[in-house]
Amino acid sequence: MSKEILHKKSPLTDNFGRPINYLRISVTDRCNLRCLYCMPEKGIRFLSKNEILTYEEIERITRILAGLGITKIRITGGEPFVRADLMHLLRSISGINGIQEVHLTTNGILTPKFLPELKKIGIAGINLSLDTLDRERFKNITRRDNFDDVLTTFHMALDYRIPLKINMVVMDNFNIPDISLMANLAKKYPIDVRYIEEMPFNGLNSDAIGVDQPRLKWNHKQIFQELQKSCPGIQKIDVSPNSTSMNYIVPGFKGKLGIIAGFTRTFCGTCNRIRITAKGILKTCLYDDGVFDLKNFLRNGATDQQVREHFLHLIGNRAKNGFEAEQRRQKQIPVYESMSEIGG
Ligand code: SAM
Repeated sequence: MSKEILHKKSPLTDNFGRPINYLRISVTDRCNLRCLYCMPEKGIRFLSKNEILTYEEIERITRILAGLGITKIRITGGEPFVRADLMHLLRSISGINGIQEVHLTTNGILTPKFLPELKKIGIAGINLSLDTLDRERFKNITRRDNFDDVLTTFHMALDYRIPLKINMVVMDNFNIPDISLMANLAKKYPIDVRYIEEMPFNGLNSDAIGVDQPRLKWNHKQIFQELQKSCPGIQKIDVSPNSTSMNYIVPGFKGKLGIIAGFTRTFCGTCNRIRITAKGILKTCLYDDGVFDLKNFLRNGATDQQVREHFLHLIGNRAKNGFEAEQRRQKQIPVYESMSEIGG
């Protein structure tokens, strides 16, 4: 059966007629980097073991959601590989009936030794976060000296022919020269480079360092203009209806380029995804502040049928877009929690 047919049949269709088939699960709020745009250097209160979903709980939720039409899973964090025995979870969710694609987002530091097994379980793709190709800039942005480890993952993933996307958050004053350097990487290698608008999910009050709408200089239009300078002939291509990125090809390039307007929120109309945070909170939009505490529900003895009914109800009450979701928040407007809490 084609994926198209599965989408149409999905019982998880929201109140705006958008079928939901993609689940992003954060397995930890902890990370081995301290990227400027994501979390403060100090003073973070990490969740205790008891506060995060167990692997069994994640497997159970995934199985229930697969029965409702979820076909694609992304495992993220925090840094997923800082959680012990992540491969156990990846193996088990890859085997769940109905799950067609398991993807992973990682910073690549602990990743190399897991690549052979990732290949073996048929990982559908890796999104590797890399904001610069310059070692010093890497240190400034991530506050750690792990540039070489990330490059090792990059080259090994290519060797293993695992589909690879590079995520680069574009930050004024930090990595603008990397817009063209990164494009060059897509010229040389069969990868997708995706430029992400910086969002205010940095764990700081946005008055401190975070961006807000008027101050976001490097929005998708500005990024595209910069790309036009170094990529002659750059041309927009049609993509799947649920893609969050605007995608481009450039003559002579082996890979593709994409721009993700995460702050401008241009793609909400076709959003097919929901998220579950490490703490077990369901988010039906990146910009909401959580619509349901799944962990407590499960730990209070909910049956599979009750969980199913809750999902259907919550998906039926989704915000129209990221702006409405932000306005509906009970706390913290504008948003500023760390992406590591949410699962980027
Ligand atoms: N640790 C993994 C990694 O680095 O890829 C997964 C988690 S990380 C939070 C996932 C993605 O979120 C990364 O690609 C990161 O660049 C992106 N991200 C984090 N904070 C962001 C922000 N404030 N604005 C835009 N993207 C952000």
